[in-house]
Amino acid sequence: MTAVRAAALCALLIGAGAVACSGSAPADPSAPRVPVAGDVQTDPGGWIEYTIGDAPLILSAPHGGLLTPTFLPNRSCAGCVTGTDEGIEALARSVAAQFHARTGLNAHVVISKIARTKLDANREVVEATGGNEVMIPIWRAYHTFLDSAVARVTTSHRRGLLLDLHGTVHPYSRLELGYSVSAEQLRLSDDALAATGAVSRSAIARLTTDNRGGVSPVALLRGSTSLGAILARNGYPGIPSPDRPAPAVGEAYYDAGYITREHGSARGGAVDAIQIEAWRVGVRDTPANINKYATAVVTSALEYLRVHYGWTPTNAVSAVTESPTQR
Ligand SMILES: [Zn+2]
Repeated sequence: MTAVRAAALCALLIGAGAVACSGSAPADPSAPRVPVAGDVQTDPGGWIEYTIGDAPLILSAPHGGLLTPTFLPNRSCAGCVTGTDEGIEALARSVAAQFHARTGLNAHVVISKIARTKLDANREVVEATGGNEVMIPIWRAYHTFLDSAVARVTTSHRRGLLLDLHGTVHPYSRLELGYSVSAEQLRLSDDALAATGAVSRSAIARLTTDNRGGVSPVALLRGSTSLGAILARNGYPGIPSPDRPAPAVGEAYYDAGYITREHGSARGGAVDAIQIEAWRVGVRDTPANINKYATAVVTSALEYLRVHYGWTPTNAVSAVTESPTQR
């Protein structure tokens, strides 16, 4: 990114409500400060946090926040889901730390620190805020930061991947990978699913026409190089994948939410998105399990980026050499 573009983006972020764009001190003290990878930006209240990256990987954690300031209203919409995704903020931070330890690079990371009783950043604005107008700028900050991350990745790497990290209460010990392809569509045969064109309209739409190995759209979902297959090889089986191509009729399954639909490539962008819902016991119930799962997410993301995007960090370390707690 050029300094001019970075400064313009910084000014845009400040205008959108970011507190500051920290970074190297500019020569002219009156000029906007140029943000650099590793800088942390927030909305004015500090509820939404964006760590600027320099890798083609974006992490999003909208449901892990625990802050419940009494001066901000609760969502009261009928049927609104308000449960916290336990361990997911820690997961996002562990994935980012381990990614940095292995590659020397920063993933872009957007985290909501405010509880879901106040804001659900993975919903459209009315349901997200429960109709509380005071919460709208905070919701907007989350998505402005994601837009900024997508813009930066597109500028710096042309293509990239967004992983929207979640925890599910569904009673199955398996990941649910969401691409905006429905359970009903996943239950089709490969040929029938291909005929629907659903994957080409999904949150990885761009990847279906622009992947390094010429992998077919359906194979991207549940073939041997799908994210589900890679995560399974790293100890975390999920749907869809070669062994588990679709949820059974009647089984609960999240096919992706607002963030994956809006910030993935379904609308023509160059960054693909996948939602990952993780079960709790043994995965995100203790710090040790969270770090272990985070290791698998990093390993899997690096393989996925290499195989499908042709991206390899130039200074990557080939194996885990330090735990995030040592950094
Ligand atoms: Zn969630």
